[in-house]
Amino acid sequence: MRAEIVSVGTELLLGQIVNTHASFLGRELAELGIDLHRIVTVGDNLERAAAVLREARERAELTVATGGLGPTQDDLTAQALAKAWGLPLEEHPGARSMVETFFRRRGRQVPAANRQQYLLPRGAEALPNPHGTAPGVWLEAGGRLAVLLPGPPGELVPMFREQVAPRLAGRGGAVIRSRVLHVLAMGEPRVEEALDGLLGGGNPTLAPLVSGGAVHLRLTAKAPDQAAAAALLAPLEAAVRQRLGPRVWGADEETLEEVLGRRLRGRGLSLALGESCTGGLVAHRLTQVPGSSEYLLLSVVAYAVAAKERLLGVDGSLVRREGVVSAAVAVRMAQGARQAVGADIGLGVTGYAGPAGGPEGPAGLVFGALADAAGVVTRRWEFPGLRVQVKERAAQELLTLLYRRLEGF
Ligand code: ATP
Ligand code: MG
Repeated sequence: MRAEIVSVGTELLLGQIVNTHASFLGRELAELGIDLHRIVTVGDNLERAAAVLREARERAELTVATGGLGPTQDDLTAQALAKAWGLPLEEHPGARSMVETFFRRRGRQVPAANRQQYLLPRGAEALPNPHGTAPGVWLEAGGRLAVLLPGPPGELVPMFREQVAPRLAGRGGAVIRSRVLHVLAMGEPRVEEALDGLLGGGNPTLAPLVSGGAVHLRLTAKAPDQAAAAALLAPLEAAVRQRLGPRVWGADEETLEEVLGRRLRGRGLSLALGESCTGGLVAHRLTQVPGSSEYLLLSVVAYAVAAKERLLGVDGSLVRREGVVSAAVAVRMAQGARQAVGADIGLGVTGYAGPAGGPEGPAGLVFGALADAAGVVTRRWEFPGLRVQVKERAAQELLTLLYRRLEGF
C-alpha cells in the first residue's frame, strides 16, 4: 500500500512550527509496512489544499492529512477533501453528536463556529476524539482511503494509535518493527568492532546511529505480523546485549535518568549534586523521573567561588592553586554535596560552557567527579559545540559516570 502525507497549515510553511506529525506518521506507517512515498505541506487555502489532496489520491491508495479540523475559518481540510474527491459536504449525525457531547460535558451549547466540525464529505466515518472537539475523518471510496487527523499533538497521536493504526494493520501486507538500543561509554568504531558479523544483515538488520555524542543501535525486522517481527528481533537483541554487556543501558523511549533511578532505588542508594557549568541540568534530568526525591537528596548549583566555598566546602586556597575549573574542585564539590546531607554518592561538575574559555583552558573544558565511600573518580572532557551542547554533554557524561559506577565498569 502506497501512502502520502498531507500536512495542512500556513504556520508550517512560515516555519513557525516544525512538522513533527510528518515524522511521527512516517515512523508509524513504516511499522505498519505501508510505503510512504511523499510528504506535502500546504497552507490553509481551500483551492491549494484540495489540489494537493486530489493529486495524492491519484498517486497513492492512502492519504493521511493533518491539521485544519478546528472551528476557525482557516480550518478547511474536511471541505478541501470533499472538493478533491468530488463529494458533497454534509452534516454527519455521528460527528454532530460527538461535538455536542464534548460541549454538553462542559455545560455548554455548541458554539456556531464549531458546527463546521460536523460537516464531512458524504460517505465519511467520524473518528471519536476523546481529547478535543474535532472528530477525525475516515473516508474510503473507489479503492482509495483518506484519513484526516486533528492538528494538536495531544489529539492526533492517541487518535492515530488507538483508532487508525489498528484499522490499517494488515493492509500493508507486512509490518516493519524497530527497536533502538542505547549505548554509552563506547564510540562508534569500538561498537562496530564489537558487533562484527552482526551489523547489516538482511532481515533483521542492525545499524548504528550517533546522536548527542552517543551511539544508538537500530534493529529492524520485516515480517507478516508484529509477533513474527518481534520473534526476529529478540535473538538479535540478545546477541547485541551479550557482546556489549551493561554498555547497553536501555531501549526505545527509556531515558538514562529512569534507568539510574531504578538502580539507585533498587539498592537503596542516595545522591547529592554540586553543579557548576551545567546550571542544574543534572538535577533537572534526574527529577524528570517520578519518585526521584527518594534518592536525590540535594542539588547545589554554585557558580560564584564564594558559593562553592560556603555551600560545598571548596577551599579558597585550592581554587587559587588548581583553578576553579579543575579536577580537584570537581572532587570537592562532589564530596561537599555528599557530606552536606550524608548521601551515599556525590557528583560534582565544573567547566567552561562557552563561548569563552578561561585561565584553565578552552570553552568546552569540563571536569566531573564522583565521590562515594570507596573513594573518588574524576574525568576530564573537552566538548565541542555551543554553550547549550556543552551543558547537555556535560550532564550526559556525569550521568554516565554514575551509571558506570553503579554497574561496576
Ligand atoms: P484546532 O482545533 O486547535 O484548530 P486543528 O485540527 O484545526 O486544531 P491546526 O489549527 O491546523 O489543527 O493546528 C493546531 C495546532 O496543532 C498548531 O498550532 C500546532 O501547534 C499543532 N500542529 C498542527 N499541525 C502540526 C504538524 N504538522 N506538526 C506539529 N504540530 C502541528
Ligand atoms: Mg485550527
